[in-house]
Amino acid sequence: MKAMYYEAFEATPEIRTVPDPTPGEDGVVIAVGATGLCRSDWHGWMGHDPDIKLPHVPGHELAGKVVATGRGVVRFKVGDRVTVPFVSGCGHCAECHSGNQQVCPSQFQPGFTHWGSFAEYVAIDYADTNLVHLPETVDDATAASLGCRFATSFRAVADQAKTRPGEWIAVHGCGGVGLSAIMIASALGANAIAIDISDEKLAFARECGAVAAINATEVADVAEAVREITKGGVHVSIDALGHPTTCFNSIKNLRAAAGMCRSASCSVTMRRRRSRWRRSSAMSWKYTAATACKPGATMPCSTCSPPARSRRRSSSAAGSAWRKPFRR
Ligand SMILES: [Zn+2]
Ligand SMILES: [Zn+2]
Repeated sequence: MKAMYYEAFEATPEIRTVPDPTPGEDGVVIAVGATGLCRSDWHGWMGHDPDIKLPHVPGHELAGKVVATGRGVVRFKVGDRVTVPFVSGCGHCAECHSGNQQVCPSQFQPGFTHWGSFAEYVAIDYADTNLVHLPETVDDATAASLGCRFATSFRAVADQAKTRPGEWIAVHGCGGVGLSAIMIASALGANAIAIDISDEKLAFARECGAVAAINATEVADVAEAVREITKGGVHVSIDALGHPTTCFNSIKNLRAAAGMCRSASCSVTMRRRRSRWRRSSAMSWKYTAATACKPGATMPCSTCSPPARSRRRSSSAAGSAWRKPFRR
């Protein structure tokens, strides 16, 4: 098959003829119909990802048709149109069983742990656990965008933050993850505020469903601008860039009592809770890994640097408050 291939980090990739992949026992081979290009591909090419062993074929956002299956695959057959989340858990370990496949120690990542989809064919392991059938109404190019940016944002907005209709959500950074978060929040009935330094991206964010937009270069204080629009701050906040400034603003613009901040760089989510009985002192942070997190990642990242553990108060009254956190 033909594939985009590089033998050294930062070297110009070439189109090469390489051996066709074969499916593993629990895997499939997919004829790639569409593949996305993502900032993570650039990080991999730069040598930032220790999972990549040279020579390498990148590409992790894909959709296509199954052309071969391993003997252990029962849910998929040749001819099925599929896509796949770019972090594919093994389906058997404790992390996978707890619903946190993104920290599976045996995870499979096309384009990182294995050769990826910048090729005519790509082999995917753990097929029964991870592949998703595609309806005819979803074309390959659309489906290829789902497994990375959309899955990451969906996990953050819907699963971790449990964003509800009518709530305010701030999205700091309007790249792939940010725009996906805005679309998902909008579909859930929430009011999304887009924040970026590019008017062009903000205009597109509005097309994607944002009800307000802030150009961070045109306001003195982004968090104050958010507070002004929302009359007190947002219920949910997402750092979709992973920069110290966006991380700080995404925490500072939270409404009292509830919120979530996600740093795209380290994929850590935080939820702030306030006790029903205690005021400012009774506040804790909960850390949970989001979709894109990888084993070995520092959680939380140094830029977020919240306290490592809940701050328990010594009195029994405060102790009982911690055991009954206020839930949104
Ligand atoms: Zn990606
Ligand atoms: Zn696993």
